[in-house]
Amino acid sequence: QESHAHEPEFLQAVKEIIYSLTPVFAQRPEYMKASLLERIVEPERVVKFRVSWEDDTGKVQVNRGYRVQYSSAIGPYKGGLRFHPSVNESIIKFLGFEQIFKNSLTGQPIGGAKGGSDFDPKGKSDSEIMRFCQAFMTELHKYIGPHEDVPAGDIGVGAREIGFLFGQYNRIKAAYLPGVITGKLPRFGGSLGRKEATGYGTVYFVQEMLQEINETFEGQTVVVSGSGNVSTYAMEKAQQLGAKVVACSDSNGYIYDPTGIKLDTVKEIKEGRGGRIKEYVDVHPEATFTEGCENIWTIPCDIALPCATQNEISEDAAKLLVANGVKAVGEGANMPNTLEAINVYFSNNVLFAPAKAANAGGVAVSALEMAQNSMRLFWTFEEVDEKLHEIMKNIYRNSREAAKEFGHENNLLIGANIAGFLKVADAMIAQGVI
Ligand code: NDP
Repeated sequence: QESHAHEPEFLQAVKEIIYSLTPVFAQRPEYMKASLLERIVEPERVVKFRVSWEDDTGKVQVNRGYRVQYSSAIGPYKGGLRFHPSVNESIIKFLGFEQIFKNSLTGQPIGGAKGGSDFDPKGKSDSEIMRFCQAFMTELHKYIGPHEDVPAGDIGVGAREIGFLFGQYNRIKAAYLPGVITGKLPRFGGSLGRKEATGYGTVYFVQEMLQEINETFEGQTVVVSGSGNVSTYAMEKAQQLGAKVVACSDSNGYIYDPTGIKLDTVKEIKEGRGGRIKEYVDVHPEATFTEGCENIWTIPCDIALPCATQNEISEDAAKLLVANGVKAVGEGANMPNTLEAINVYFSNNVLFAPAKAANAGGVAVSALEMAQNSMRLFWTFEEVDEKLHEIMKNIYRNSREAAKEFGHENNLLIGANIAGFLKVADAMIAQGVI
Protein backbone atom coordinates (compact mmCIF):
# COMPACT_ATOMS: atom_id res chain seq x y z
CA GLN A 1 0.00 0.00 0.00
CA GLU A 2 2.79 2.45 0.92
CA SER A 3 4.48 2.08 -2.45
CA HIS A 4 1.21 3.20 -4.08
CA ALA A 5 0.59 6.17 -1.77
CA HIS A 6 0.98 8.49 -4.76
CA GLU A 7 -1.88 6.67 -6.56
CA PRO A 8 -4.94 7.38 -4.37
CA GLU A 9 -7.62 6.59 -6.97
CA PHE A 10 -5.96 3.29 -7.82
CA LEU A 11 -5.69 2.34 -4.13
CA GLN A 12 -9.35 3.23 -3.60
CA ALA A 13 -10.41 0.91 -6.43
CA VAL A 14 -8.18 -1.94 -5.23
CA LYS A 15 -9.38 -1.62 -1.61
CA GLU A 16 -12.98 -1.99 -2.72
CA ILE A 17 -12.17 -5.15 -4.68
CA ILE A 18 -10.08 -6.74 -1.93
CA TYR A 19 -12.87 -6.18 0.57
CA SER A 20 -15.45 -7.68 -1.82
CA LEU A 21 -13.36 -10.74 -2.64
CA THR A 22 -12.61 -11.76 0.95
CA PRO A 23 -15.44 -14.36 1.04
CA VAL A 24 -14.30 -15.81 -2.32
CA PHE A 25 -10.71 -16.36 -1.18
CA ALA A 26 -12.00 -17.86 2.06
CA GLN A 27 -13.94 -20.49 0.07
CA ARG A 28 -11.46 -21.13 -2.73
CA PRO A 29 -7.93 -21.85 -1.47
CA GLU A 30 -6.80 -22.61 -5.05
CA TYR A 31 -7.13 -18.89 -5.83
CA MET A 32 -4.89 -18.04 -2.90
CA LYS A 33 -2.33 -20.65 -3.99
CA ALA A 34 -2.27 -19.17 -7.50
CA SER A 35 -1.66 -15.66 -6.03
CA LEU A 36 -4.57 -14.42 -8.12
CA LEU A 37 -5.02 -11.21 -6.18
CA GLU A 38 -1.35 -10.25 -6.40
CA ARG A 39 -1.42 -11.01 -10.13
CA ILE A 40 -4.63 -9.24 -11.01
CA VAL A 41 -3.73 -5.93 -9.32
CA GLU A 42 -0.57 -5.71 -11.42
CA PRO A 43 -1.19 -4.51 -15.00
CA GLU A 44 0.17 -6.80 -17.72
CA ARG A 45 1.69 -3.70 -19.36
CA VAL A 46 1.83 0.08 -18.82
CA VAL A 47 2.76 2.25 -21.79
CA LYS A 48 3.56 5.91 -21.19
CA PHE A 49 4.57 8.15 -24.06
CA ARG A 50 5.26 11.67 -25.26
CA VAL A 51 2.72 13.33 -27.54
CA SER A 52 4.04 16.47 -29.25
CA TRP A 53 1.83 18.44 -31.61
CA GLU A 54 1.61 21.90 -33.11
CA ASP A 55 -1.08 24.38 -31.98
CA ASP A 56 -2.74 26.92 -34.30
CA THR A 57 -0.06 29.53 -33.57
CA GLY A 58 2.68 27.14 -34.71
CA LYS A 59 3.97 26.49 -31.18
CA VAL A 60 4.83 22.90 -30.30
CA GLN A 61 2.88 21.55 -27.32
CA VAL A 62 3.83 18.47 -25.32
CA ASN A 63 1.44 16.14 -23.50
CA ARG A 64 1.74 12.71 -21.93
CA GLY A 65 -0.13 9.68 -23.27
CA TYR A 66 -0.97 6.43 -21.46
CA ARG A 67 -2.25 2.95 -22.22
CA VAL A 68 -2.59 0.53 -19.35
CA GLN A 69 -3.20 -3.01 -20.65
CA TYR A 70 -4.49 -4.65 -17.53
CA SER A 71 -5.75 -8.12 -18.29
CA SER A 72 -6.10 -10.21 -21.43
CA ALA A 73 -7.30 -13.36 -19.67
CA ILE A 74 -10.71 -13.47 -21.37
CA GLY A 75 -10.17 -11.46 -24.55
CA PRO A 76 -8.25 -8.64 -26.24
CA TYR A 77 -7.67 -5.57 -24.07
CA LYS A 78 -10.64 -3.23 -24.22
CA GLY A 79 -11.32 0.13 -22.58
CA GLY A 80 -11.72 3.81 -23.33
CA LEU A 81 -9.36 6.74 -23.81
CA ARG A 82 -9.80 9.82 -21.59
CA PHE A 83 -8.51 13.27 -22.58
CA HIS A 84 -8.65 15.55 -19.53
CA PRO A 85 -6.04 17.66 -17.72
CA SER A 86 -6.56 15.59 -14.53
CA VAL A 87 -5.38 12.37 -16.25
CA ASN A 88 -2.41 10.67 -14.57
CA GLU A 89 -1.18 7.12 -14.07
CA SER A 90 -3.25 6.58 -10.91
CA ILE A 91 -6.48 7.50 -12.67
CA ILE A 92 -5.74 5.40 -15.75
CA LYS A 93 -4.76 2.43 -13.55
CA PHE A 94 -7.94 2.65 -11.45
CA LEU A 95 -10.05 2.83 -14.58
CA GLY A 96 -8.15 -0.03 -16.26
CA PHE A 97 -8.40 -2.19 -13.16
CA GLU A 98 -12.16 -1.67 -12.86
CA GLN A 99 -12.54 -2.35 -16.57
CA ILE A 100 -11.38 -5.97 -16.11
CA PHE A 101 -14.36 -6.78 -13.91
CA LYS A 102 -16.84 -4.65 -15.84
CA ASN A 103 -15.92 -6.26 -19.15
CA SER A 104 -16.17 -9.71 -17.65
CA LEU A 105 -19.64 -8.88 -16.29
CA THR A 106 -20.94 -8.05 -19.77
CA GLY A 107 -20.54 -11.70 -20.74
CA GLN A 108 -18.57 -10.60 -23.82
CA PRO A 109 -15.03 -11.90 -24.56
CA ILE A 110 -13.07 -8.75 -23.73
CA GLY A 111 -10.11 -8.07 -21.44
CA GLY A 112 -9.49 -4.85 -19.47
CA ALA A 113 -7.53 -1.70 -20.37
CA LYS A 114 -7.71 2.08 -20.24
CA GLY A 115 -5.73 4.96 -21.71
CA GLY A 116 -5.70 8.65 -22.33
CA SER A 117 -3.79 11.87 -21.99
CA ASP A 118 -3.56 15.00 -19.85
CA PHE A 119 -4.45 16.95 -23.03
CA ASP A 120 -7.32 19.39 -22.43
CA PRO A 121 -9.68 19.49 -25.43
CA LYS A 122 -11.54 22.53 -24.03
CA GLY A 123 -11.00 25.67 -26.08
CA LYS A 124 -9.05 23.84 -28.83
CA SER A 125 -9.94 24.25 -32.49
CA ASP A 126 -11.01 21.26 -34.62
CA SER A 127 -7.60 21.36 -36.34
CA GLU A 128 -5.77 21.27 -33.02
CA ILE A 129 -7.89 18.33 -31.85
CA MET A 130 -7.12 16.55 -35.13
CA ARG A 131 -3.36 17.16 -34.88
CA PHE A 132 -3.33 16.01 -31.26
CA CYS A 133 -5.29 12.83 -32.07
CA GLN A 134 -2.97 12.06 -35.00
CA ALA A 135 0.13 12.55 -32.84
CA PHE A 136 -1.40 10.40 -30.08
CA MET A 137 -2.20 7.56 -32.50
CA THR A 138 1.20 7.78 -34.18
CA GLU A 139 2.61 6.32 -30.95
CA LEU A 140 -0.38 4.32 -29.70
CA HIS A 141 -0.74 2.31 -32.94
CA LYS A 142 2.29 0.18 -31.96
CA TYR A 143 0.43 -1.35 -29.05
CA ILE A 144 -3.14 -1.84 -30.34
CA GLY A 145 -4.99 -3.84 -33.02
CA PRO A 146 -8.31 -5.62 -33.60
CA HIS A 147 -6.98 -8.80 -31.92
CA GLU A 148 -4.70 -7.13 -29.38
CA ASP A 149 -6.25 -4.02 -27.85
CA VAL A 150 -9.36 -2.11 -28.92
CA PRO A 151 -9.70 1.41 -27.45
CA ALA A 152 -12.89 3.51 -27.34
CA GLY A 153 -14.02 6.91 -26.02
CA ASP A 154 -14.41 8.26 -22.50
CA ILE A 155 -14.36 11.79 -21.01
CA GLY A 156 -13.20 14.22 -23.71
CA VAL A 157 -13.14 11.54 -26.42
CA GLY A 158 -16.33 11.46 -28.48
CA ALA A 159 -17.19 10.59 -32.08
CA ARG A 160 -15.03 13.43 -33.50
CA GLU A 161 -11.88 12.26 -31.71
CA ILE A 162 -12.59 8.58 -32.49
CA GLY A 163 -12.85 9.51 -36.19
CA PHE A 164 -9.46 11.28 -36.15
CA LEU A 165 -7.80 8.43 -34.22
CA PHE A 166 -9.28 5.78 -36.52
CA GLY A 167 -8.25 7.67 -39.66
CA GLN A 168 -4.66 7.95 -38.47
CA TYR A 169 -4.46 4.25 -37.52
CA ASN A 170 -5.60 3.17 -40.98
CA ARG A 171 -3.25 5.65 -42.64
CA ILE A 172 -0.26 4.22 -40.77
CA LYS A 173 -1.30 0.61 -41.41
CA ALA A 174 -2.24 1.24 -45.06
CA ALA A 175 -5.40 -0.76 -44.39
CA TYR A 176 -9.02 -0.40 -43.32
CA LEU A 177 -9.42 -2.06 -39.95
CA PRO A 178 -12.74 -1.07 -38.35
CA GLY A 179 -12.19 -3.55 -35.51
CA VAL A 180 -9.33 -1.49 -34.03
CA ILE A 181 -11.49 1.08 -32.24
CA THR A 182 -15.12 1.39 -31.17
CA GLY A 183 -17.43 4.35 -30.83
CA LYS A 184 -17.08 5.11 -34.55
CA LEU A 185 -19.89 6.90 -36.34
CA PRO A 186 -22.37 4.40 -37.80
CA ARG A 187 -21.58 5.60 -41.33
CA PHE A 188 -18.07 4.08 -41.14
CA GLY A 189 -18.37 0.96 -39.04
CA GLY A 190 -19.89 2.21 -35.80
CA SER A 191 -22.88 0.58 -34.14
CA LEU A 192 -26.27 2.18 -33.84
CA GLY A 193 -27.14 2.44 -30.15
CA ARG A 194 -23.53 2.87 -28.93
CA LYS A 195 -23.99 6.56 -28.20
CA GLU A 196 -27.00 5.81 -26.01
CA ALA A 197 -25.70 2.57 -24.49
CA THR A 198 -24.05 3.63 -21.21
CA GLY A 199 -26.81 6.01 -20.14
CA TYR A 200 -29.65 3.72 -21.25
CA GLY A 201 -27.87 0.74 -19.67
CA THR A 202 -27.54 2.51 -16.32
CA VAL A 203 -31.26 3.22 -16.29
CA TYR A 204 -32.10 -0.36 -17.35
CA PHE A 205 -30.00 -1.62 -14.44
CA VAL A 206 -31.64 0.73 -11.91
CA GLN A 207 -35.02 -0.31 -13.30
CA GLU A 208 -34.26 -3.94 -12.38
CA MET A 209 -33.17 -2.83 -8.92
CA LEU A 210 -36.34 -0.77 -8.38
CA GLN A 211 -38.48 -3.79 -9.22
CA GLU A 212 -37.19 -5.41 -6.02
CA ILE A 213 -39.10 -2.77 -4.04
CA ASN A 214 -42.05 -2.78 -6.44
CA GLU A 215 -41.20 0.60 -7.88
CA THR A 216 -40.52 1.94 -11.38
CA PHE A 217 -39.14 5.19 -12.83
CA GLU A 218 -42.71 6.43 -13.40
CA GLY A 219 -43.30 9.64 -11.44
CA GLN A 220 -39.90 9.63 -9.67
CA THR A 221 -37.83 12.79 -9.30
CA VAL A 222 -34.32 12.24 -10.68
CA VAL A 223 -31.08 14.23 -10.41
CA VAL A 224 -28.33 13.47 -12.94
CA SER A 225 -24.86 15.00 -12.75
CA GLY A 226 -22.92 15.89 -15.90
CA SER A 227 -24.38 16.71 -19.30
CA GLY A 228 -22.05 14.64 -21.47
CA ASN A 229 -22.56 11.34 -23.22
CA VAL A 230 -23.59 9.19 -20.25
CA SER A 231 -25.72 11.86 -18.55
CA THR A 232 -27.62 12.86 -21.68
CA TYR A 233 -28.79 9.35 -22.45
CA ALA A 234 -29.46 8.45 -18.82
CA MET A 235 -31.77 11.48 -18.73
CA GLU A 236 -33.39 10.46 -22.01
CA LYS A 237 -34.21 6.93 -20.89
CA ALA A 238 -35.36 8.03 -17.42
CA GLN A 239 -37.73 10.52 -19.06
CA GLN A 240 -38.98 7.89 -21.52
CA LEU A 241 -39.85 5.73 -18.51
CA GLY A 242 -41.91 8.52 -16.96
CA ALA A 243 -39.43 10.10 -14.53
CA LYS A 244 -39.05 13.83 -13.97
CA VAL A 245 -35.38 14.81 -14.29
CA VAL A 246 -34.94 18.13 -12.47
CA ALA A 247 -31.19 18.81 -12.56
CA CYS A 248 -27.97 18.22 -14.47
CA SER A 249 -24.54 19.88 -14.57
CA ASP A 250 -21.17 20.42 -16.19
CA SER A 251 -17.81 21.22 -14.64
CA ASN A 252 -18.86 24.88 -14.11
CA GLY A 253 -22.10 24.29 -12.19
CA TYR A 254 -25.60 22.86 -12.29
CA ILE A 255 -29.05 23.78 -13.55
CA TYR A 256 -32.24 23.10 -11.63
CA ASP A 257 -35.50 23.07 -13.55
CA PRO A 258 -38.43 22.23 -11.27
CA THR A 259 -40.68 21.79 -14.33
CA GLY A 260 -38.38 19.06 -15.72
CA ILE A 261 -35.21 19.36 -17.84
CA LYS A 262 -35.89 19.95 -21.54
CA LEU A 263 -33.40 17.53 -23.05
CA ASP A 264 -33.56 19.00 -26.56
CA THR A 265 -32.10 22.20 -25.17
CA VAL A 266 -29.33 20.34 -23.32
CA LYS A 267 -28.44 18.38 -26.48
CA GLU A 268 -28.45 21.51 -28.60
CA ILE A 269 -26.11 23.28 -26.16
CA LYS A 270 -23.72 20.43 -25.31
CA GLU A 271 -23.79 17.97 -28.25
CA GLY A 272 -24.69 20.54 -30.87
CA ARG A 273 -22.20 23.30 -30.23
CA GLY A 274 -20.06 22.35 -27.23
CA GLY A 275 -21.54 25.17 -25.11
CA ARG A 276 -21.92 25.49 -21.33
CA ILE A 277 -24.90 24.18 -19.36
CA LYS A 278 -25.58 27.61 -17.82
CA GLU A 279 -26.85 28.75 -21.25
CA TYR A 280 -29.95 26.61 -20.53
CA VAL A 281 -31.41 29.33 -18.29
CA ASP A 282 -31.31 31.83 -21.17
CA VAL A 283 -33.87 29.65 -22.98
CA HIS A 284 -35.77 28.46 -19.89
CA PRO A 285 -36.01 31.27 -17.33
CA GLU A 286 -38.01 28.98 -14.99
CA ALA A 287 -34.69 27.18 -14.33
CA THR A 288 -31.79 28.37 -12.17
CA PHE A 289 -28.03 27.98 -12.61
CA THR A 290 -25.72 27.55 -9.60
CA GLU A 291 -21.95 27.98 -9.89
CA GLY A 292 -19.97 24.86 -8.76
CA CYS A 293 -21.17 21.26 -9.13
CA GLU A 294 -20.93 19.75 -5.61
CA ASN A 295 -24.23 21.20 -4.38
CA ILE A 296 -26.28 19.45 -7.04
CA TRP A 297 -26.77 16.69 -4.45
CA THR A 298 -28.60 19.10 -2.12
CA ILE A 299 -31.58 18.94 -4.50
CA PRO A 300 -34.17 16.48 -3.11
CA CYS A 301 -34.71 13.47 -5.37
CA ASP A 302 -35.94 9.86 -5.35
CA ILE A 303 -33.18 8.62 -7.66
CA ALA A 304 -29.65 10.03 -8.01
CA LEU A 305 -27.62 9.18 -11.10
CA PRO A 306 -24.04 10.52 -10.83
CA CYS A 307 -22.80 10.49 -14.44
CA ALA A 308 -19.90 13.01 -14.49
CA THR A 309 -16.66 11.85 -12.89
CA GLN A 310 -14.92 10.04 -10.00
CA ASN A 311 -15.49 10.96 -6.33
CA GLU A 312 -18.20 13.52 -7.07
CA ILE A 313 -20.35 12.36 -4.12
CA SER A 314 -18.68 12.72 -0.71
CA GLU A 315 -19.91 11.22 2.55
CA ASP A 316 -21.62 14.51 3.45
CA ALA A 317 -23.33 14.73 0.08
CA ALA A 318 -24.54 11.13 0.47
CA LYS A 319 -25.94 11.96 3.94
CA LEU A 320 -27.84 14.88 2.44
CA LEU A 321 -29.27 12.68 -0.30
CA VAL A 322 -30.45 10.23 2.36
CA ALA A 323 -31.90 13.00 4.55
CA ASN A 324 -33.84 14.19 1.50
CA GLY A 325 -35.32 10.73 0.98
CA VAL A 326 -33.30 9.24 -1.90
CA LYS A 327 -34.41 5.64 -2.65
CA ALA A 328 -31.81 4.58 -5.20
CA VAL A 329 -28.39 5.67 -6.44
CA GLY A 330 -27.11 4.41 -9.81
CA GLU A 331 -23.52 5.04 -10.86
CA GLY A 332 -23.35 6.08 -14.52
CA ALA A 333 -19.82 7.47 -14.07
CA ASN A 334 -16.84 5.43 -12.88
CA MET A 335 -16.36 5.52 -9.07
CA PRO A 336 -18.48 8.69 -8.58
CA ASN A 337 -19.07 7.85 -4.89
CA THR A 338 -16.34 7.75 -2.27
CA LEU A 339 -16.20 4.54 -0.23
CA GLU A 340 -17.61 6.51 2.73
CA ALA A 341 -20.57 7.69 0.64
CA ILE A 342 -21.34 4.09 -0.36
CA ASN A 343 -21.33 3.05 3.31
CA VAL A 344 -23.93 5.75 3.98
CA TYR A 345 -26.26 4.16 1.41
CA PHE A 346 -25.80 0.67 2.83
CA SER A 347 -26.45 1.77 6.39
CA ASN A 348 -29.63 3.54 5.32
CA ASN A 349 -31.05 0.82 3.05
CA VAL A 350 -30.71 2.93 -0.09
CA LEU A 351 -30.58 0.76 -3.22
CA PHE A 352 -27.11 1.08 -4.74
CA ALA A 353 -26.11 0.22 -8.32
CA PRO A 354 -22.29 0.10 -8.57
CA ALA A 355 -20.54 1.50 -11.64
CA LYS A 356 -18.90 -1.72 -12.78
CA ALA A 357 -22.32 -3.25 -13.27
CA ALA A 358 -24.55 -0.25 -13.91
CA ASN A 359 -22.42 1.48 -16.55
CA ALA A 360 -21.24 -1.67 -18.34
CA GLY A 361 -23.75 -1.08 -21.16
CA GLY A 362 -21.33 1.12 -23.09
CA VAL A 363 -18.57 -1.41 -23.32
CA ALA A 364 -21.10 -4.18 -23.92
CA VAL A 365 -22.34 -2.40 -27.04
CA SER A 366 -18.72 -1.69 -28.00
CA ALA A 367 -18.24 -5.47 -28.02
CA LEU A 368 -21.36 -5.72 -30.20
CA GLU A 369 -19.73 -3.16 -32.52
CA MET A 370 -16.65 -5.41 -32.72
CA ALA A 371 -18.90 -8.37 -33.52
CA GLN A 372 -20.66 -6.46 -36.32
CA ASN A 373 -17.28 -5.32 -37.72
CA SER A 374 -16.00 -8.92 -37.77
CA MET A 375 -19.15 -10.24 -39.45
CA ARG A 376 -19.45 -7.21 -41.77
CA LEU A 377 -23.02 -6.79 -40.56
CA PHE A 378 -25.00 -3.77 -39.41
CA TRP A 379 -27.76 -4.25 -36.85
CA THR A 380 -30.73 -1.91 -36.43
CA PHE A 381 -31.02 0.37 -33.40
CA GLU A 382 -33.83 -1.81 -32.05
CA GLU A 383 -31.74 -4.99 -32.34
CA VAL A 384 -28.83 -3.41 -30.47
CA ASP A 385 -31.05 -1.85 -27.80
CA GLU A 386 -32.80 -5.17 -27.20
CA LYS A 387 -29.46 -6.94 -26.77
CA LEU A 388 -28.28 -4.16 -24.43
CA HIS A 389 -31.42 -4.49 -22.32
CA GLU A 390 -30.93 -8.26 -22.06
CA ILE A 391 -27.24 -7.83 -21.12
CA MET A 392 -28.12 -5.35 -18.34
CA LYS A 393 -30.74 -7.72 -16.95
CA ASN A 394 -28.17 -10.54 -16.95
CA ILE A 395 -25.59 -8.37 -15.20
CA TYR A 396 -28.16 -7.54 -12.55
CA ARG A 397 -29.15 -11.19 -12.09
CA ASN A 398 -25.55 -12.44 -11.97
CA SER A 399 -24.48 -9.75 -9.50
CA ARG A 400 -27.43 -10.50 -7.24
CA GLU A 401 -26.84 -14.25 -7.34
CA ALA A 402 -23.10 -13.93 -6.63
CA ALA A 403 -23.85 -11.66 -3.66
CA LYS A 404 -26.28 -14.23 -2.29
CA GLU A 405 -23.96 -17.20 -2.88
CA PHE A 406 -21.14 -15.54 -0.95
CA GLY A 407 -23.26 -14.37 1.99
CA HIS A 408 -23.90 -10.72 1.11
CA GLU A 409 -27.47 -10.78 -0.13
CA ASN A 410 -28.68 -7.48 -1.64
CA ASN A 411 -25.15 -6.04 -1.79
CA LEU A 412 -24.76 -5.49 -5.53
CA LEU A 413 -21.34 -3.90 -5.09
CA ILE A 414 -19.89 -7.08 -3.64
CA GLY A 415 -21.96 -9.23 -6.00
CA ALA A 416 -20.77 -7.40 -9.14
CA ASN A 417 -17.14 -7.55 -8.04
CA ILE A 418 -17.36 -11.27 -7.33
CA ALA A 419 -19.29 -12.14 -10.49
CA GLY A 420 -16.80 -10.18 -12.62
CA PHE A 421 -13.81 -11.68 -10.86
CA LEU A 422 -14.78 -15.39 -10.97
CA LYS A 423 -14.72 -15.65 -14.76
CA VAL A 424 -11.34 -13.92 -15.04
CA ALA A 425 -9.91 -15.94 -12.15
CA ASP A 426 -10.93 -19.27 -13.68
CA ALA A 427 -9.54 -18.20 -17.06
CA MET A 428 -6.22 -17.25 -15.44
CA ILE A 429 -5.94 -20.59 -13.69
CA ALA A 430 -6.92 -22.54 -16.81
CA GLN A 431 -4.28 -20.73 -18.88
CA GLY A 432 -1.45 -21.43 -16.45
CA VAL A 433 0.89 -19.08 -14.67
CA ILE A 434 1.69 -16.08 -16.87
P1 NDP B 1 -18.23 13.33 -21.35
O1 NDP B 1 -16.93 14.00 -21.56
O2 NDP B 1 -19.15 13.16 -22.50
O3 NDP B 1 -19.06 14.09 -20.21
C1 NDP B 1 -18.56 14.29 -18.93
C2 NDP B 1 -19.48 15.25 -18.20
O4 NDP B 1 -19.05 15.36 -16.84
C3 NDP B 1 -19.47 16.66 -18.77
O5 NDP B 1 -20.71 17.27 -18.54
C4 NDP B 1 -18.37 17.32 -17.95
O6 NDP B 1 -18.48 18.73 -17.89
C5 NDP B 1 -18.59 16.71 -16.59
N1 NDP B 1 -17.32 16.63 -15.86
C6 NDP B 1 -16.15 16.12 -16.26
N2 NDP B 1 -15.19 16.25 -15.33
C7 NDP B 1 -15.79 16.85 -14.31
C8 NDP B 1 -15.34 17.27 -13.04
N3 NDP B 1 -14.08 17.09 -12.65
N4 NDP B 1 -16.24 17.85 -12.23
C9 NDP B 1 -17.54 18.02 -12.63
N5 NDP B 1 -18.02 17.66 -13.82
C10 NDP B 1 -17.15 17.08 -14.64
O7 NDP B 1 -17.87 11.93 -20.65
P2 NDP B 1 -18.78 10.63 -20.53
O8 NDP B 1 -20.19 11.01 -20.38
O9 NDP B 1 -18.38 9.70 -21.59
O10 NDP B 1 -18.22 10.00 -19.16
C11 NDP B 1 -18.74 10.35 -17.89
C12 NDP B 1 -18.37 9.26 -16.88
O11 NDP B 1 -18.90 8.00 -17.29
C13 NDP B 1 -16.87 9.03 -16.69
O12 NDP B 1 -16.63 8.63 -15.35
C14 NDP B 1 -16.59 7.86 -17.61
O13 NDP B 1 -15.44 7.13 -17.23
C15 NDP B 1 -17.85 7.04 -17.38
N6 NDP B 1 -18.17 6.06 -18.41
C16 NDP B 1 -18.37 6.45 -19.71
C17 NDP B 1 -18.72 5.53 -20.66
C18 NDP B 1 -19.09 5.92 -22.06
O14 NDP B 1 -19.58 5.08 -22.80
N7 NDP B 1 -18.91 7.17 -22.46
C19 NDP B 1 -18.77 4.09 -20.35
C20 NDP B 1 -18.62 3.79 -18.94
C21 NDP B 1 -18.30 4.75 -18.04
P3 NDP B 1 -17.73 19.66 -18.97
O15 NDP B 1 -18.58 19.64 -20.18
O16 NDP B 1 -17.67 20.98 -18.29
O17 NDP B 1 -16.38 19.05 -19.17
